[in-house]
Amino acid sequence: MSFETLGLSAPILRALKAENYEIPTPIQLQSIPVVLQGRDLLGCAQTGTGKTAAFALPILHMLYAKKLSGEPMKGIQALIITPTRELAIQIDESFTAYGRYTSIRHIAIFGGVSQHTQVQALKSGVDVLVATPGRLLDLIGQQLVSLRQIRYFVLDEADRMLDMGFIHDVKKIISLLPPVRQTLFFSATMPTDIAQLAQSILKDPQKVEVTPVSST
Ligand code: AMP
Repeated sequence: MSFETLGLSAPILRALKAENYEIPTPIQLQSIPVVLQGRDLLGCAQTGTGKTAAFALPILHMLYAKKLSGEPMKGIQALIITPTRELAIQIDESFTAYGRYTSIRHIAIFGGVSQHTQVQALKSGVDVLVATPGRLLDLIGQQLVSLRQIRYFVLDEADRMLDMGFIHDVKKIISLLPPVRQTLFFSATMPTDIAQLAQSILKDPQKVEVTPVSST
């Protein structure tokens, strides 16, 4: 099975060629069709399995289709929250790589640095926001970010998020999201508290599970 047969749009396929991605990884094969169908997803997968593309590619595809249809993109359409600044930067770089021919606008926001550049970027318009929980809530508190138009929500590395003590922040962010949305939930492990959190925010999710890719 190739990326072409998954039905991704031409500019995305072109970007994947440029990245030398030839075949989808198991998590991509399982997740992309489910996300393109509009379903919620519960993904049990670690970093290294290709899980970033598993959510980034279908989100880019759907936003690109919306852009092509001429429907105005008002406000932030997709939110990805992830526990660390490094992961936020990596995910944002993936959106740069996969979305380079789509003109979908994206940025990463995270703490530990001045908010100035992030705020300037937000003001110039963003379709996809990649964020760590603390900085996101900070900017929401300053009314510099609104989650009212979010259509796609990704919770990345949920188990790590809880280990790092972000459960309260995550729940607060979820409470600010529109109830009508598509949610993609990823965690490397699924202990009871994570499974409960997943159950409380997902609607009839499709479960996908992959074992880690072994490193050579
Ligand atoms: P991730 O698990 O999303 O952090 O991805 C792990 C690494 O695999 C990254 O360096 C990606 O660029 C790479 N990768 C993801 N999907 C593919 C693919 N289908 N073919 C080749 N490399 C990939």
